[in-house]
Amino acid sequence: MNDSAAPQPRPARATADAVVLGAGPRGVSVLERLVARASATGPALRVTLVDPYPPGAGRVWWRGQPPQLLMNTMVADNTVFPDESVRLDAPVGTGPTFAEWLRDIAVGGHRDSAAAEFAAYADDRAYAPRRVYGSYLVDALERIRALGGGRVRIEVRTAAARSVTPAPGSPDSPKTAGYSGLSGGGYDIALDDGTRITARAAVLATGHLEAPYPASAGPSAKVLHLPGGHPADYALDAIAPDADVLLRGGGLNAFDVLALLTLGRGGRFDEHGYTPSGREPRIWITTRRGVPFHARVDTPGVRVPTAFLTPERVAALAARERLDFHADVVPWLTADLELAWYDRVLALHADALPAPEELRRALTALPPGPDRGDALRAAVPEPLRLDLDAIAEPLRGRRFAHPAELGDWWAGHLDADLAAATDPHLPPRAALAVAVRQARPALRTLITAGNLSGESYRRDVLGWFNGFANFVSGGPPALRVRQLCALLAAGVVALLGPVRPGTRSASAVVEDFTVRPDAVIDAWLPGTDVGADGPGLVRRLIADGLGRPHRLPAAAPGAAPLPTGALDVRARDGRIKRPDGTVHDALFAVGVPLEGVRWTTAIGARPGTDADFFHETDRVAQELLRGLTPPPHAPADAVGSGTGRRHHERAAVRPDRGPAHPPHDATAHQTSGREERDMPRTPAAPAGHPPTEESQP
Ligand SMILES: Cc1cc2nc3c(=O)[nH]c(=O)nc-3n(C[C@H](O)[C@H](O)[C@H](O)COP(=O)(O)OP(=O)(O)OC[C@H]3O[C@@H](n4cnc5c(N)ncnc54)[C@H](O)[C@@H]3O)c2cc1C
Repeated sequence: MNDSAAPQPRPARATADAVVLGAGPRGVSVLERLVARASATGPALRVTLVDPYPPGAGRVWWRGQPPQLLMNTMVADNTVFPDESVRLDAPVGTGPTFAEWLRDIAVGGHRDSAAAEFAAYADDRAYAPRRVYGSYLVDALERIRALGGGRVRIEVRTAAARSVTPAPGSPDSPKTAGYSGLSGGGYDIALDDGTRITARAAVLATGHLEAPYPASAGPSAKVLHLPGGHPADYALDAIAPDADVLLRGGGLNAFDVLALLTLGRGGRFDEHGYTPSGREPRIWITTRRGVPFHARVDTPGVRVPTAFLTPERVAALAARERLDFHADVVPWLTADLELAWYDRVLALHADALPAPEELRRALTALPPGPDRGDALRAAVPEPLRLDLDAIAEPLRGRRFAHPAELGDWWAGHLDADLAAATDPHLPPRAALAVAVRQARPALRTLITAGNLSGESYRRDVLGWFNGFANFVSGGPPALRVRQLCALLAAGVVALLGPVRPGTRSASAVVEDFTVRPDAVIDAWLPGTDVGADGPGLVRRLIADGLGRPHRLPAAAPGAAPLPTGALDVRARDGRIKRPDGTVHDALFAVGVPLEGVRWTTAIGARPGTDADFFHETDRVAQELLRGLTPPPHAPADAVGSGTGRRHHERAAVRPDRGPAHPPHDATAHQTSGREERDMPRTPAAPAGHPPTEESQP
């Protein structure tokens, strides 16, 4: 199959046992799990995969995108097939990881010459063009279809689903009384090509949400405004070579835009720096923190010591009635970050410490609190101290007389950042990034336990931690920061720093300096906010009364629960919840729209880490098969989980929470210390939270 492949007959109305809406990595993974689990003796299933973008690659990994757009994760860190590390009660190892696939095509060649060329020189630590990963995913889907054969027949439809509505006979159909489970009427899916599919079950794997409809016209009618979105979709051709561009945001989208406006316009990087093509605009970067994200620390296999967010402590915190991230979690997290930082200070700068033994003792013996703070301050001279606020806002307290002065400071900052990210001795700054990444499984358990207050989730997780974690540990490959240094030296890029409150482009750190841009680019992805008025299937589902926004209980007594931005699903199996809190039997969702029920969903799977990604898609596949395949000796219309009744959440620890011990409760794996990859993209804040630097990808 290729991108333009799969011309299918298009009857006005087709039927299928199941539809998977969205053919990116998660849609593909749901199919892979279905095929892996389908019994050789069970009935044949017909599954339709729907996406307006080429199947497999989908929108993010579309093979038509510019070659300058690179992955943010190393070759070795990506797979769409679960390997032996993934603890499932179903077959794994059904296909190659990305690295294995590249090794195969380096020898055997590939019809995608760009992929073959990359494979010929890339090692496991290289960063592939996104479209090369797209070729891997297209091949993966082809393999899965072949493995499915006649047992799980996978058809592909190139279209967008406009709506999912209950078909006659389904419990949600106005014409139907009672409930008939998976064997009932199922769902009617309207596609944007005017055709419809009726399926007994549907899975939404639709990925990143579109931006809500804008409330106003944007910065100014006279200034070109490119709002946040997929990097490949920015209308950058509208920006003239001599334009002044204000690039808002310093995350991964910003680095993509920089690549498109420089390399994409014919510029060249080499060991001497950047050679412009003359078609670049002048780019002013502004971010809330002042500077773009740090270079990613990619030292394979490196670990830092931890002592505070232990599995026991995490379990105890997760079992509390109510949790406040800032008050209950951050002190322990900070203690682990201190341990990681000062462990490297002890290793690399012990000579500069007045009493290294004191520091060693205080680090592990003293719990979070004033005594610990005092002891650390006494044991470490100021230049070597961990100051999280200074790291979060490196321009704090600094003022510059002229943009060039700020540029000089920035050049030094970038050099130091590159040195730290690439130093094999793991200096403290790099150890901090590793520690933040290492804490993620524990934090995921806590953030998704269901007892976090809505206020804390919005303020502490969306408003602070996600942004901070991305800033220090989820940045671009070092190569991109090296290129940024060259662009600064070539005068193509300059730093504005944060802007003064209430202004669009007046620098808060350079005296009397304001940029008058011809174009403003918002370099971030829209956040996950299913409750906002905007386009997309998930929002339509809610508007049609089939789903509801996910909410967390408020800390304030008697106050209404607060939305997280996610679509509400039953956490253990992804079944979408109706507005009344009951779950659909045959309507599931996976991935990014669930950010808030799950955490760090804007992410692929990393080999060797028992990745959550597969537990999520495997569970959905398992539940689908359970419903679609009659148990031995059961009459076909008794399939599913009970006729004539709705599924209510099973006995739970507390309302709105998963069961205490579901057979494959994801959190059970999370507390087991499973290694977790970093998050390349984090959605921005939900309704009422304007996108901020904190929440950019
Ligand atoms: C620009 C960008 C770069 C990224 N880089 C990395 C990286 O380097 N490494 C990494 O691990 N992760 C990266 N990510 C995160 C990325 O989200 C995941 O890696 C992965 O693609 C998520 O898979 P998914 O299938 O859940 O969502 P997606 O990949 O977003 O796929 C969802 C699919 O659903 C389709 N769809 C949407 N609406 C409909 C509809 N109504 N009907 C039918 N189909 C629909 C879309 O067209 C899309 O193809 C990146 C994300 C972005 C946006």
